[in-house]
Amino acid sequence: MSNNGSKIDTIAGIDLGTTFSSLAILNAIGRPEIVPNSEGERLTPSAIFFDEESSGIIRVGIEALHCRYLNPQRSVRWIKRQMGDASYKKFLDGKEWSPVELSALILKKLKDDCSVDNRQIRDVVISVPAHFDEIRRKATMDAGTLAGLNVVGIVNEPVATALYYATTCPVYGKILIYDLGGGTFDVTIMDVKGTDMNIICSQGDHELGGIDFDRKILEIMRSFYKDKLGAELINTEEERAKLEDEAEDVKKTLSRRDVAKQILYGRSGSTKFELARQVFEEAVAPLMSRIDILLEVALEEAKLKPSQIDKVLLSGGSSRMPIVQKRLRKMFGFDPDVAVNVDECVSLGAAIHAGMTLIRDNPLALSTGIIGGLKNIRLTDVCNHSYGTICAPIDKKSGKRVVENRIILRKNTPLPCQATKTFYTVAEGQTELEINITQGEDTAPEYVNKITTHKLQLPPNRPAECPIKVTYSYDVNQRMHCFFEDVQSGSVLEVDFALDRQGNMKQNEIEEKAKRFETLKVQ
Ligand code: AMP
Repeated sequence: MSNNGSKIDTIAGIDLGTTFSSLAILNAIGRPEIVPNSEGERLTPSAIFFDEESSGIIRVGIEALHCRYLNPQRSVRWIKRQMGDASYKKFLDGKEWSPVELSALILKKLKDDCSVDNRQIRDVVISVPAHFDEIRRKATMDAGTLAGLNVVGIVNEPVATALYYATTCPVYGKILIYDLGGGTFDVTIMDVKGTDMNIICSQGDHELGGIDFDRKILEIMRSFYKDKLGAELINTEEERAKLEDEAEDVKKTLSRRDVAKQILYGRSGSTKFELARQVFEEAVAPLMSRIDILLEVALEEAKLKPSQIDKVLLSGGSSRMPIVQKRLRKMFGFDPDVAVNVDECVSLGAAIHAGMTLIRDNPLALSTGIIGGLKNIRLTDVCNHSYGTICAPIDKKSGKRVVENRIILRKNTPLPCQATKTFYTVAEGQTELEINITQGEDTAPEYVNKITTHKLQLPPNRPAECPIKVTYSYDVNQRMHCFFEDVQSGSVLEVDFALDRQGNMKQNEIEEKAKRFETLKVQ
Protein backbone atom coordinates (compact mmCIF):
# COMPACT_ATOMS: atom_id res chain seq x y z
CA MET A 1 0.00 0.00 0.00
CA SER A 2 1.07 3.56 -0.53
CA ASN A 3 1.68 4.36 3.11
CA ASN A 4 4.07 1.55 3.97
CA GLY A 5 6.33 1.88 0.96
CA SER A 6 5.48 -1.40 -0.78
CA LYS A 7 4.10 -1.58 -4.34
CA ILE A 8 0.64 -0.25 -5.04
CA ASP A 9 -1.20 -2.73 -7.21
CA THR A 10 -4.21 -0.73 -8.36
CA ILE A 11 -4.57 3.00 -8.77
CA ALA A 12 -8.03 4.26 -9.54
CA GLY A 13 -9.91 7.40 -10.47
CA ILE A 14 -13.57 7.81 -9.53
CA ASP A 15 -16.12 10.12 -11.09
CA LEU A 16 -18.70 10.54 -8.32
CA GLY A 17 -21.39 12.11 -10.49
CA THR A 18 -24.82 13.52 -9.70
CA THR A 19 -26.59 10.99 -11.92
CA PHE A 20 -23.86 8.46 -12.84
CA SER A 21 -20.57 7.38 -11.32
CA SER A 22 -17.71 5.37 -12.78
CA LEU A 23 -14.33 3.97 -11.86
CA ALA A 24 -11.19 3.70 -13.99
CA ILE A 25 -7.85 2.07 -13.17
CA LEU A 26 -4.39 2.59 -14.61
CA ASN A 27 -3.05 -0.36 -16.60
CA ALA A 28 0.55 -1.56 -16.56
CA ILE A 29 1.70 1.18 -18.95
CA GLY A 30 -0.12 4.01 -17.17
CA ARG A 31 -3.17 4.15 -19.48
CA PRO A 32 -6.59 4.48 -17.82
CA GLU A 33 -9.28 1.86 -18.37
CA ILE A 34 -12.89 1.80 -17.16
CA VAL A 35 -13.76 -1.13 -14.89
CA PRO A 36 -17.36 -2.32 -15.35
CA ASN A 37 -19.51 -2.83 -12.24
CA SER A 38 -20.93 -6.21 -11.18
CA GLU A 39 -23.82 -5.76 -13.65
CA GLY A 40 -21.25 -5.41 -16.45
CA GLU A 41 -22.08 -1.70 -16.92
CA ARG A 42 -19.39 0.96 -17.36
CA LEU A 43 -21.53 3.61 -15.65
CA THR A 44 -23.29 3.11 -12.31
CA PRO A 45 -26.37 5.26 -11.62
CA SER A 46 -25.72 7.32 -8.46
CA ALA A 47 -28.99 6.02 -7.01
CA ILE A 48 -29.55 4.31 -3.64
CA PHE A 49 -32.48 2.21 -2.45
CA PHE A 50 -32.81 0.92 1.10
CA ASP A 51 -34.55 -2.45 1.10
CA GLU A 52 -37.17 -3.05 3.77
CA GLU A 53 -35.71 -3.04 7.29
CA SER A 54 -35.57 -6.82 7.68
CA SER A 55 -33.23 -7.48 4.75
CA GLY A 56 -30.72 -4.74 5.60
CA ILE A 57 -29.67 -4.63 1.96
CA ILE A 58 -28.79 -1.31 0.39
CA ARG A 59 -29.04 -1.31 -3.37
CA VAL A 60 -26.91 1.07 -5.39
CA GLY A 61 -27.02 1.55 -9.16
CA ILE A 62 -29.47 0.43 -11.80
CA GLU A 63 -31.50 -1.75 -9.42
CA ALA A 64 -31.90 1.18 -7.02
CA LEU A 65 -33.12 3.30 -9.90
CA HIS A 66 -35.83 0.78 -10.77
CA CYS A 67 -36.78 0.01 -7.14
CA ARG A 68 -37.51 3.65 -6.42
CA TYR A 69 -40.86 3.36 -8.25
CA LEU A 70 -41.91 0.89 -5.54
CA ASN A 71 -41.15 3.21 -2.67
CA PRO A 72 -39.61 6.62 -3.40
CA GLN A 73 -39.36 7.33 0.33
CA ARG A 74 -36.68 4.62 0.59
CA SER A 75 -34.71 5.92 -2.35
CA VAL A 76 -32.08 8.63 -2.79
CA ARG A 77 -30.93 10.29 -6.00
CA TRP A 78 -28.80 13.33 -6.86
CA ILE A 79 -27.17 13.37 -3.42
CA LYS A 80 -24.19 15.29 -4.85
CA ARG A 81 -26.34 18.41 -4.81
CA GLN A 82 -26.59 18.13 -1.02
CA MET A 83 -22.87 17.47 -0.43
CA GLY A 84 -21.60 19.65 2.43
CA ASP A 85 -25.14 20.62 3.50
CA ALA A 86 -25.24 20.06 7.27
CA SER A 87 -29.02 20.40 7.38
CA TYR A 88 -29.78 17.56 4.93
CA LYS A 89 -30.58 14.19 6.49
CA LYS A 90 -32.36 11.12 5.15
CA PHE A 91 -34.30 9.43 7.97
CA LEU A 92 -34.94 5.70 7.57
CA ASP A 93 -35.71 2.92 10.03
CA GLY A 94 -34.68 5.08 12.99
CA LYS A 95 -31.32 6.01 11.43
CA GLU A 96 -30.25 9.23 9.82
CA TRP A 97 -27.97 9.37 6.79
CA SER A 98 -25.91 12.42 5.88
CA PRO A 99 -24.90 13.31 2.28
CA VAL A 100 -21.36 12.10 3.10
CA GLU A 101 -22.65 8.71 4.26
CA LEU A 102 -24.99 8.35 1.28
CA SER A 103 -22.19 9.24 -1.14
CA ALA A 104 -20.00 6.71 0.66
CA LEU A 105 -22.55 3.99 -0.22
CA ILE A 106 -22.11 4.78 -3.94
CA LEU A 107 -18.32 4.73 -3.56
CA LYS A 108 -18.50 1.44 -1.64
CA LYS A 109 -20.49 -0.17 -4.47
CA LEU A 110 -17.87 0.99 -7.02
CA LYS A 111 -15.00 -0.16 -4.81
CA ASP A 112 -16.50 -3.59 -4.03
CA ASP A 113 -17.61 -4.25 -7.62
CA CYS A 114 -14.23 -3.36 -9.09
CA SER A 115 -12.15 -5.18 -6.45
CA VAL A 116 -11.43 -8.78 -7.42
CA ASP A 117 -8.94 -11.34 -6.11
CA ASN A 118 -5.88 -9.96 -7.86
CA ARG A 119 -7.02 -6.33 -7.88
CA GLN A 120 -8.09 -4.51 -4.73
CA ILE A 121 -9.20 -0.91 -5.16
CA ARG A 122 -7.82 1.31 -2.40
CA ASP A 123 -5.74 4.29 -3.56
CA VAL A 124 -8.01 6.65 -5.44
CA VAL A 125 -8.51 10.17 -6.67
CA ILE A 126 -12.14 11.32 -6.66
CA SER A 127 -13.30 14.06 -9.00
CA VAL A 128 -15.35 17.09 -7.89
CA PRO A 129 -16.83 20.04 -9.79
CA ALA A 130 -14.22 22.79 -10.18
CA HIS A 131 -16.30 25.27 -8.22
CA PHE A 132 -16.85 22.94 -5.21
CA ASP A 133 -15.79 24.82 -2.08
CA GLU A 134 -13.55 23.63 0.74
CA ILE A 135 -16.43 22.10 2.72
CA ARG A 136 -17.73 20.07 -0.23
CA ARG A 137 -14.21 18.90 -1.13
CA LYS A 138 -13.62 17.72 2.43
CA ALA A 139 -17.05 16.03 2.46
CA THR A 140 -16.14 14.15 -0.75
CA MET A 141 -12.86 12.96 0.75
CA ASP A 142 -14.67 11.85 3.93
CA ALA A 143 -17.12 9.86 1.82
CA GLY A 144 -14.16 8.04 0.24
CA THR A 145 -12.66 7.25 3.65
CA LEU A 146 -16.01 5.91 4.92
CA ALA A 147 -16.16 3.64 1.88
CA GLY A 148 -12.78 2.15 2.87
CA LEU A 149 -10.78 4.01 0.23
CA ASN A 150 -7.46 5.78 0.65
CA VAL A 151 -8.23 9.11 -1.04
CA VAL A 152 -4.80 10.25 -2.25
CA GLY A 153 -6.29 13.38 -3.77
CA ILE A 154 -9.19 15.05 -5.48
CA VAL A 155 -9.27 16.51 -8.97
CA ASN A 156 -11.53 19.04 -10.60
CA GLU A 157 -13.77 17.36 -13.17
CA PRO A 158 -12.76 19.60 -16.12
CA VAL A 159 -9.09 19.09 -15.25
CA ALA A 160 -9.65 15.33 -15.34
CA THR A 161 -11.32 15.69 -18.75
CA ALA A 162 -8.40 17.75 -20.03
CA LEU A 163 -5.87 15.26 -18.67
CA TYR A 164 -7.53 12.40 -20.48
CA TYR A 165 -7.99 14.38 -23.66
CA ALA A 166 -4.45 15.80 -23.80
CA THR A 167 -2.93 12.38 -23.22
CA THR A 168 -5.10 10.80 -25.91
CA CYS A 169 -4.74 13.25 -28.82
CA PRO A 170 -2.46 16.21 -29.63
CA VAL A 171 -3.78 19.48 -28.17
CA TYR A 172 -2.22 22.94 -28.37
CA GLY A 173 -3.48 26.39 -27.44
CA LYS A 174 -6.19 27.92 -25.29
CA ILE A 175 -8.76 25.25 -24.55
CA LEU A 176 -12.20 25.79 -23.03
CA ILE A 177 -13.72 22.76 -21.32
CA TYR A 178 -17.49 22.83 -21.17
CA ASP A 179 -18.74 20.28 -18.67
CA LEU A 180 -22.52 19.93 -18.34
CA GLY A 181 -23.36 16.85 -16.30
CA GLY A 182 -26.47 15.58 -14.54
CA GLY A 183 -26.45 18.14 -11.76
CA THR A 184 -23.59 20.56 -12.26
CA PHE A 185 -22.03 22.86 -14.83
CA ASP A 186 -18.35 23.78 -14.97
CA VAL A 187 -16.31 25.77 -17.44
CA THR A 188 -12.53 25.73 -17.30
CA ILE A 189 -10.07 27.58 -19.54
CA MET A 190 -6.57 26.24 -19.85
CA ASP A 191 -3.39 26.68 -21.82
CA VAL A 192 -2.21 23.37 -23.26
CA LYS A 193 1.02 22.52 -25.04
CA GLY A 194 0.81 18.78 -25.61
CA THR A 195 1.01 17.22 -22.16
CA ASP A 196 2.00 20.49 -20.49
CA MET A 197 -1.25 21.90 -19.06
CA ASN A 198 -1.83 25.14 -17.20
CA ILE A 199 -5.27 25.94 -15.84
CA ILE A 200 -6.16 29.61 -16.23
CA CYS A 201 -9.54 29.75 -14.47
CA SER A 202 -12.79 27.91 -13.70
CA GLN A 203 -16.38 28.92 -13.15
CA GLY A 204 -19.41 26.82 -12.32
CA ASP A 205 -22.79 26.26 -10.78
CA HIS A 206 -23.60 23.19 -8.70
CA GLU A 207 -27.34 23.68 -9.18
CA LEU A 208 -27.36 23.59 -12.96
CA GLY A 209 -27.36 20.31 -14.84
CA GLY A 210 -29.35 17.71 -16.76
CA ILE A 211 -31.97 17.29 -14.02
CA ASP A 212 -32.95 20.95 -14.38
CA PHE A 213 -33.61 20.35 -18.08
CA ASP A 214 -35.68 17.26 -17.17
CA ARG A 215 -37.72 19.37 -14.73
CA LYS A 216 -38.59 21.85 -17.48
CA ILE A 217 -40.00 18.96 -19.55
CA LEU A 218 -41.88 17.66 -16.52
CA GLU A 219 -43.50 21.10 -16.12
CA ILE A 220 -44.53 21.07 -19.79
CA MET A 221 -45.98 17.55 -19.41
CA ARG A 222 -47.98 18.55 -16.33
CA SER A 223 -49.54 21.62 -17.86
CA PHE A 224 -50.25 19.72 -21.11
CA TYR A 225 -52.08 16.99 -19.14
CA LYS A 226 -53.99 19.56 -17.13
CA ASP A 227 -55.08 21.42 -20.31
CA LYS A 228 -56.09 18.18 -22.03
CA LEU A 229 -57.76 16.25 -19.21
CA GLY A 230 -58.33 18.91 -16.57
CA ALA A 231 -56.49 16.89 -13.93
CA GLU A 232 -53.16 16.63 -12.16
CA LEU A 233 -50.67 14.29 -13.80
CA ILE A 234 -48.63 13.85 -10.63
CA ASN A 235 -50.41 13.01 -7.38
CA THR A 236 -47.90 10.86 -5.53
CA GLU A 237 -44.15 10.51 -5.12
CA GLU A 238 -44.33 7.20 -7.02
CA GLU A 239 -45.90 8.95 -10.00
CA ARG A 240 -43.32 11.70 -9.81
CA ALA A 241 -40.46 9.18 -9.82
CA LYS A 242 -41.79 7.52 -12.96
CA LEU A 243 -42.48 10.77 -14.78
CA GLU A 244 -39.04 12.17 -13.96
CA ASP A 245 -37.57 9.26 -15.89
CA GLU A 246 -40.02 9.75 -18.75
CA ALA A 247 -39.09 13.43 -18.96
CA GLU A 248 -35.41 12.44 -19.15
CA ASP A 249 -36.22 10.00 -21.97
CA VAL A 250 -38.03 12.77 -23.87
CA LYS A 251 -34.99 15.02 -23.41
CA LYS A 252 -32.62 12.36 -24.75
CA THR A 253 -34.91 11.67 -27.72
CA LEU A 254 -34.82 15.38 -28.53
CA SER A 255 -31.03 15.13 -28.83
CA ARG A 256 -31.60 12.78 -31.79
CA ARG A 257 -34.93 13.94 -33.24
CA ASP A 258 -36.88 17.13 -33.85
CA VAL A 259 -39.96 15.79 -32.06
CA ALA A 260 -40.36 13.36 -29.14
CA LYS A 261 -43.61 11.44 -28.63
CA GLN A 262 -44.87 9.83 -25.46
CA ILE A 263 -48.13 8.58 -23.92
CA LEU A 264 -48.85 10.27 -20.62
CA TYR A 265 -50.64 7.93 -18.22
CA GLY A 266 -52.45 9.63 -15.34
CA ARG A 267 -55.37 8.91 -13.02
CA SER A 268 -57.78 10.65 -15.37
CA GLY A 269 -56.75 8.61 -18.39
CA SER A 270 -53.98 8.67 -20.95
CA THR A 271 -53.14 11.18 -23.65
CA LYS A 272 -50.68 11.44 -26.50
CA PHE A 273 -47.93 13.97 -25.85
CA GLU A 274 -45.55 15.49 -28.38
CA LEU A 275 -42.70 17.88 -27.71
CA ALA A 276 -40.83 19.66 -30.47
CA ARG A 277 -37.14 20.39 -29.95
CA GLN A 278 -37.81 24.04 -30.66
CA VAL A 279 -40.37 24.26 -27.82
CA PHE A 280 -37.96 22.50 -25.46
CA GLU A 281 -35.17 24.89 -26.43
CA GLU A 282 -37.41 27.89 -25.73
CA ALA A 283 -38.33 26.45 -22.32
CA VAL A 284 -34.70 25.91 -21.33
CA ALA A 285 -33.49 29.29 -22.60
CA PRO A 286 -33.20 30.67 -19.01
CA LEU A 287 -30.93 27.74 -18.07
CA MET A 288 -28.81 28.30 -21.19
CA SER A 289 -28.56 32.02 -20.35
CA ARG A 290 -27.14 31.14 -16.93
CA ILE A 291 -24.52 29.01 -18.69
CA ASP A 292 -23.74 31.82 -21.14
CA ILE A 293 -23.11 34.21 -18.25
CA LEU A 294 -20.68 31.75 -16.63
CA LEU A 295 -18.88 31.36 -19.97
CA GLU A 296 -18.57 35.14 -20.29
CA VAL A 297 -17.27 35.49 -16.72
CA ALA A 298 -14.69 32.74 -17.34
CA LEU A 299 -13.50 34.42 -20.56
CA GLU A 300 -13.28 37.74 -18.76
CA GLU A 301 -11.26 36.21 -15.91
CA ALA A 302 -8.92 34.61 -18.44
CA LYS A 303 -8.70 37.97 -20.27
CA LEU A 304 -9.57 36.23 -23.52
CA LYS A 305 -12.06 36.92 -26.28
CA PRO A 306 -14.02 34.01 -27.78
CA SER A 307 -11.89 34.38 -30.95
CA GLN A 308 -8.77 33.60 -28.89
CA ILE A 309 -10.07 30.17 -27.84
CA ASP A 310 -8.53 27.45 -30.03
CA LYS A 311 -10.69 24.52 -29.02
CA VAL A 312 -13.87 23.85 -27.06
CA LEU A 313 -13.98 20.43 -25.43
CA LEU A 314 -17.28 18.89 -24.32
CA SER A 315 -17.69 16.78 -21.23
CA GLY A 316 -20.74 15.49 -19.31
CA GLY A 317 -23.77 13.67 -20.70
CA SER A 318 -25.88 16.83 -21.06
CA SER A 319 -23.41 18.31 -23.54
CA ARG A 320 -25.06 15.96 -26.07
CA MET A 321 -28.02 18.34 -26.32
CA PRO A 322 -27.97 20.03 -29.74
CA ILE A 323 -28.74 23.40 -28.12
CA VAL A 324 -25.38 23.23 -26.33
CA GLN A 325 -23.48 22.69 -29.53
CA LYS A 326 -25.54 25.31 -31.37
CA ARG A 327 -24.85 28.00 -28.72
CA LEU A 328 -21.13 27.19 -28.62
CA ARG A 329 -20.87 27.34 -32.43
CA LYS A 330 -22.48 30.77 -32.34
CA MET A 331 -20.24 32.04 -29.55
CA PHE A 332 -16.90 30.71 -30.82
CA GLY A 333 -17.48 30.41 -34.58
CA PHE A 334 -16.50 26.71 -34.76
CA ASP A 335 -17.84 23.33 -33.67
CA PRO A 336 -16.97 22.07 -30.19
CA ASP A 337 -14.90 18.93 -30.01
CA VAL A 338 -16.75 15.77 -29.02
CA ALA A 339 -13.95 13.31 -29.71
CA VAL A 340 -13.63 12.08 -26.14
CA ASN A 341 -16.23 9.90 -24.48
CA VAL A 342 -18.23 12.53 -22.60
CA ASP A 343 -19.51 10.05 -19.98
CA GLU A 344 -16.22 8.39 -19.11
CA CYS A 345 -13.51 11.01 -19.59
CA VAL A 346 -13.74 12.30 -16.00
CA SER A 347 -12.99 8.97 -14.30
CA LEU A 348 -10.35 8.15 -16.94
CA GLY A 349 -8.67 11.51 -16.27
CA ALA A 350 -9.04 11.06 -12.51
CA ALA A 351 -7.09 7.76 -12.79
CA ILE A 352 -4.28 9.62 -14.60
CA HIS A 353 -4.37 12.25 -11.84
CA ALA A 354 -4.12 9.51 -9.22
CA GLY A 355 -1.02 8.16 -10.98
CA MET A 356 0.51 11.66 -11.14
CA THR A 357 -0.26 12.24 -7.44
CA LEU A 358 1.49 9.02 -6.46
CA ILE A 359 4.48 9.76 -8.71
CA ARG A 360 4.82 13.02 -6.76
CA ASP A 361 4.14 11.64 -3.27
CA ASN A 362 5.37 8.06 -3.35
CA PRO A 363 7.24 7.22 -6.60
CA LEU A 364 8.95 4.14 -5.17
CA ALA A 365 5.56 2.50 -4.78
CA LEU A 366 4.81 2.60 -8.51
CA SER A 367 5.84 0.27 -11.30
CA THR A 368 8.23 1.61 -13.96
CA GLY A 369 5.52 1.03 -16.60
CA ILE A 370 3.13 3.44 -14.92
CA ILE A 371 5.85 6.02 -14.21
CA GLY A 372 6.99 5.80 -17.85
CA GLY A 373 3.45 6.32 -19.09
CA LEU A 374 2.81 9.42 -17.01
CA LYS A 375 6.17 11.08 -16.45
CA ASN A 376 5.88 13.66 -19.24
CA ILE A 377 2.56 15.11 -18.08
CA ARG A 378 2.80 18.53 -16.40
CA LEU A 379 -0.23 20.12 -14.81
CA THR A 380 -0.52 23.46 -13.04
CA ASP A 381 -3.88 24.05 -11.44
CA VAL A 382 -5.17 27.24 -9.84
CA CYS A 383 -7.00 28.17 -6.66
CA ASN A 384 -10.70 28.10 -7.59
CA HIS A 385 -12.01 30.69 -5.12
CA SER A 386 -10.75 33.73 -3.27
CA TYR A 387 -10.33 33.08 0.46
CA GLY A 388 -10.15 35.78 3.11
CA THR A 389 -11.11 36.79 6.61
CA ILE A 390 -13.33 39.39 8.24
CA CYS A 391 -11.49 42.27 9.88
CA ALA A 392 -12.30 45.74 11.25
CA PRO A 393 -9.61 48.24 10.27
CA ILE A 394 -9.92 51.97 11.04
CA ASP A 395 -11.14 53.94 8.06
CA LYS A 396 -8.61 56.74 7.38
CA LYS A 397 -11.28 59.28 6.40
CA SER A 398 -13.88 58.78 9.13
CA GLY A 399 -11.55 57.49 11.84
CA LYS A 400 -14.16 54.77 12.57
CA ARG A 401 -13.79 51.01 12.33
CA VAL A 402 -15.35 49.39 9.28
CA VAL A 403 -16.05 45.69 9.10
CA GLU A 404 -14.79 44.24 5.83
CA ASN A 405 -13.71 41.06 4.09
CA ARG A 406 -10.01 41.05 3.26
CA ILE A 407 -8.86 38.54 0.64
CA ILE A 408 -5.73 36.58 1.55
CA LEU A 409 -5.54 34.04 -1.28
CA ARG A 410 -6.80 35.25 -4.62
CA LYS A 411 -8.81 33.17 -7.09
CA ASN A 412 -6.83 31.75 -10.04
CA THR A 413 -3.44 31.89 -8.27
CA PRO A 414 -1.32 28.94 -9.54
CA LEU A 415 -0.99 26.06 -7.06
CA PRO A 416 0.57 25.39 -4.65
CA CYS A 417 0.28 28.87 -3.17
CA GLN A 418 0.58 30.57 0.20
CA ALA A 419 -0.01 34.10 1.46
CA THR A 420 0.36 35.83 4.82
CA LYS A 421 -1.28 39.05 6.02
CA THR A 422 -1.09 40.77 9.38
CA PHE A 423 -4.20 42.01 11.19
CA TYR A 424 -4.53 43.75 14.57
CA THR A 425 -6.66 43.26 17.69
CA VAL A 426 -9.33 45.93 18.09
CA ALA A 427 -9.74 46.43 21.86
CA GLU A 428 -7.62 46.89 24.97
CA GLY A 429 -7.58 43.73 27.12
CA GLN A 430 -9.01 41.63 24.27
CA THR A 431 -8.69 37.95 25.26
CA GLU A 432 -10.52 36.35 22.38
CA LEU A 433 -10.55 36.80 18.64
CA GLU A 434 -13.34 35.57 16.43
CA ILE A 435 -11.90 34.15 13.26
CA ASN A 436 -13.94 33.84 10.11
CA ILE A 437 -12.68 32.14 7.00
CA THR A 438 -14.49 33.48 3.98
CA GLN A 439 -14.88 32.49 0.37
CA GLY A 440 -15.79 35.12 -2.20
CA GLU A 441 -14.58 38.17 -4.03
CA ASP A 442 -16.38 41.02 -2.31
CA THR A 443 -15.08 43.33 0.43
CA ALA A 444 -18.57 43.51 1.98
CA PRO A 445 -18.97 40.64 4.51
CA GLU A 446 -22.63 40.13 3.56
CA TYR A 447 -21.66 39.19 -0.02
CA VAL A 448 -19.15 36.47 0.84
CA ASN A 449 -19.63 32.99 2.20
CA LYS A 450 -18.36 32.42 5.77
CA ILE A 451 -17.12 28.86 5.50
CA THR A 452 -16.07 28.42 9.09
CA THR A 453 -15.79 30.35 12.37
CA HIS A 454 -13.34 29.71 15.24
CA LYS A 455 -12.03 31.45 18.34
CA LEU A 456 -8.38 32.26 19.07
CA GLN A 457 -7.62 32.77 22.79
CA LEU A 458 -5.32 35.73 23.54
CA PRO A 459 -3.27 36.67 26.65
CA PRO A 460 -4.90 39.24 29.01
CA ASN A 461 -3.85 42.81 29.86
CA ARG A 462 -2.64 43.96 26.48
CA PRO A 463 -3.32 47.14 24.55
CA ALA A 464 -5.29 47.15 21.30
CA GLU A 465 -3.53 46.76 17.92
CA CYS A 466 -1.57 43.60 18.80
CA PRO A 467 -0.52 41.89 15.55
CA ILE A 468 -2.13 38.62 14.41
CA LYS A 469 -0.42 36.91 11.48
CA VAL A 470 -2.76 35.01 9.16
CA THR A 471 -1.38 32.49 6.69
CA TYR A 472 -3.49 30.60 4.14
CA SER A 473 -2.03 27.99 1.86
CA TYR A 474 -3.61 25.95 -0.86
CA ASP A 475 -2.14 22.64 -1.92
CA VAL A 476 -2.15 20.90 -5.31
CA ASN A 477 -5.15 18.84 -4.21
CA GLN A 478 -7.20 22.04 -3.93
CA ARG A 479 -7.26 21.76 -0.14
CA MET A 480 -6.79 24.76 2.10
CA HIS A 481 -4.77 25.11 5.31
CA CYS A 482 -5.12 28.16 7.58
CA PHE A 483 -2.93 29.37 10.47
CA PHE A 484 -3.70 32.27 12.81
CA GLU A 485 -0.79 33.37 15.02
CA ASP A 486 -0.76 35.87 17.87
CA VAL A 487 2.73 37.27 17.16
CA GLN A 488 3.60 38.35 20.75
CA SER A 489 2.57 35.16 22.56
CA GLY A 490 3.24 32.76 19.70
CA SER A 491 -0.17 31.18 20.30
CA VAL A 492 -1.36 29.51 17.08
CA LEU A 493 -4.72 28.33 15.81
CA GLU A 494 -4.57 25.88 12.94
CA VAL A 495 -7.96 25.53 11.35
CA ASP A 496 -8.71 21.94 10.56
CA PHE A 497 -11.71 21.72 8.31
CA ALA A 498 -12.34 18.24 9.68
CA LEU A 499 -13.36 19.86 12.96
CA ASP A 500 -15.78 22.42 11.65
CA ARG A 501 -19.47 22.47 12.27
CA GLN A 502 -20.63 22.47 8.68
CA GLY A 503 -21.57 18.84 8.41
CA ASN A 504 -18.07 17.39 8.22
CA MET A 505 -17.10 14.74 10.73
CA LYS A 506 -14.17 14.56 13.10
CA GLN A 507 -11.35 12.20 12.10
CA ASN A 508 -12.03 9.63 14.85
CA GLU A 509 -15.74 9.70 14.01
CA ILE A 510 -14.91 8.97 10.35
CA GLU A 511 -12.63 6.08 11.27
CA GLU A 512 -15.25 4.58 13.56
CA LYS A 513 -17.98 4.91 10.96
CA ALA A 514 -15.68 3.45 8.29
CA LYS A 515 -15.54 0.23 10.36
CA ARG A 516 -19.35 0.09 10.45
CA PHE A 517 -19.51 0.72 6.71
CA GLU A 518 -17.35 -2.35 6.08
CA THR A 519 -20.18 -4.51 7.40
CA LEU A 520 -22.97 -2.86 5.37
CA LYS A 521 -24.58 -5.00 2.69
CA VAL A 522 -24.25 -2.67 -0.32
CA GLN A 523 -25.10 -4.37 -3.62
P1 AMP B 1 -23.13 12.83 -16.41
O1 AMP B 1 -23.31 13.39 -15.02
O2 AMP B 1 -22.00 13.41 -17.15
O3 AMP B 1 -23.14 11.33 -16.44
O4 AMP B 1 -24.43 13.28 -17.22
C1 AMP B 1 -25.67 12.77 -16.96
C2 AMP B 1 -26.70 13.68 -17.56
O5 AMP B 1 -26.55 13.65 -18.98
C3 AMP B 1 -28.12 13.27 -17.27
O6 AMP B 1 -28.87 14.42 -16.88
C4 AMP B 1 -28.61 12.74 -18.58
O7 AMP B 1 -30.00 12.92 -18.76
C5 AMP B 1 -27.82 13.57 -19.56
N1 AMP B 1 -27.73 12.95 -20.89
C6 AMP B 1 -27.16 11.77 -21.19
N2 AMP B 1 -27.33 11.50 -22.51
C7 AMP B 1 -28.01 12.56 -23.04
C8 AMP B 1 -28.51 12.87 -24.34
N3 AMP B 1 -28.34 12.05 -25.36
N4 AMP B 1 -29.16 14.05 -24.49
C9 AMP B 1 -29.36 14.87 -23.45
N5 AMP B 1 -28.93 14.63 -22.21
C10 AMP B 1 -28.27 13.48 -22.00
